[in-house]
Amino acid sequence: MSSTRNDDGLLFIGGQWRDAASGGRIDVLDPSTGSVIGTVADGGAADIDAAVTAAREAFGPWAALSGRERARVLNRIAELIRENADELVRLESLDVGKPVTLARVVDVATAVEQYEYCAGLAQGIDGATRKTPLNAFAYTRREPLGVVAAITPFNFPLILSSTKIAPALAAGNVVVHKPADDTPLSALFMAKLFQQAGVPDGVVNVVTGTGSVAGDALLRHPGVDKVAFTGSTAIGKHAASVAGEALKSVTMELGGNAAHIVFEDADLDKAIGSIIKGFVFNTGQFCMAGPRLLVARPLYDTVVDILANAVPGVPVGDPRDPETVIGPMAADRHLKKVEEYVALARQEGGRVVCGGQRLELNGGYYYRPTVIADLPNDSRVVQEEVFGPVLTVQPFDSEDEAVELANSTQYGLAAGLATTNLARAHRVADRLQAGIVWINDWAMLDPAVPFGGVKNSGFGREYGPEALDSYTKVKSVVISLD
Ligand code: NAD
Repeated sequence: MSSTRNDDGLLFIGGQWRDAASGGRIDVLDPSTGSVIGTVADGGAADIDAAVTAAREAFGPWAALSGRERARVLNRIAELIRENADELVRLESLDVGKPVTLARVVDVATAVEQYEYCAGLAQGIDGATRKTPLNAFAYTRREPLGVVAAITPFNFPLILSSTKIAPALAAGNVVVHKPADDTPLSALFMAKLFQQAGVPDGVVNVVTGTGSVAGDALLRHPGVDKVAFTGSTAIGKHAASVAGEALKSVTMELGGNAAHIVFEDADLDKAIGSIIKGFVFNTGQFCMAGPRLLVARPLYDTVVDILANAVPGVPVGDPRDPETVIGPMAADRHLKKVEEYVALARQEGGRVVCGGQRLELNGGYYYRPTVIADLPNDSRVVQEEVFGPVLTVQPFDSEDEAVELANSTQYGLAAGLATTNLARAHRVADRLQAGIVWINDWAMLDPAVPFGGVKNSGFGREYGPEALDSYTKVKSVVISLD
């Protein structure tokens, strides 16, 4: 029997809402004011064990449903997200500081699309027949993996949990979700929607808590078959090594530091809009942001001047104001990190052409969108992931140099370029080391289009039919015809 009790920041395990075994709680803050808005359970190893046990019990019956039956449930989830859009927008805005307008058209809309897309995929999970010189009939089956540990970061709680839970469920897996320490609210609300949608008890479990305790216990639990991790490269390396030691299946969606290349033949009006979107979207807390702008030297001064004039006009402020484009950083520590990087950029010879300081407003964690010109390529601010509304601008003299600069960091998640030359667009896209390349716009993402990283941005793909590959295993069956 499912509990009908509201979550109240409790853990959701086996269809029941319960306190952490330790009784501990974690504060949840509103980043637009810095004030505590509630608490959630501080889950630990015992809670993770209970969640994995509940998931294992639920696995057989869920996996045995037909893809069409699972698709019906996924479509109901999508419908419930639509019906509860106002509440999800409110929670994402309160918890992460997301501007309400963006939370609605991006976060909530994308979550709906992911469940609907995966409902379609659920109905088409099939194998292949293979021709062989053996006197035998050979075919393949794609089977679910079992218990998926979904570990998600703070910046897109709803989207990135859906990115894992929707394909995992579509393929017949069960899930234990550990949301980010700071931004767990939408995950708990989604648990209520899963119940309403008819997701059987234990098929999705949500354990809030810290990464070092709950997250680590989940990684190490022997009942987990797959680790689907999204987060920083540093924690991802730890997660991959722990999971790898136990030979668990793993996908790693890690950090990024994308280059956005503007060639001299670009449509500059269009490019400026994409450049600004690329670094201010989600207050720059976007793994696929474009914080490294590379500009053909003849356009360099012009582009820097245009940005210096245009960027301060982007509305920063209260995320509850529908006009706001840039909200606060999600936590004080993220704000401090951005301040440290901008101070470092000044020491490294960078010219701050706009921004470069906090915005004091209601005690929130606001930082003005910042453009820094003239930094050398080996500066830390260029090479590392700042993860805030900060853009560096560097000139280049040739296509080869643009590609070399673009590929010069440890990351390879996204990249982009602006050009009106079709041959150049394809040629450069081919040479960029990134999981996704955008041409003449930024952040064009869709559940049908796979994304993921190369180099230290990770491995595995989310979205698209490719996502299902990482939530299934292939079994070959060979029948003798003798
Ligand atoms: P993070 O690595 O600090 O945390 C991610 C998750 O891992 C959280 O749930 C956290 O609690 C958990 N965690 C922390 N320590 C752990 C441990 N020892 N064992 C198990 N789990 C642990 O990342 P973050 O600060 O929340 O998110 C920002 C980072 O995520 C950035 O680097 C960003 O680029 C990356 N990111 C990548 C993608 C992508 O698709 N590639 C998407 C969003 C964010």
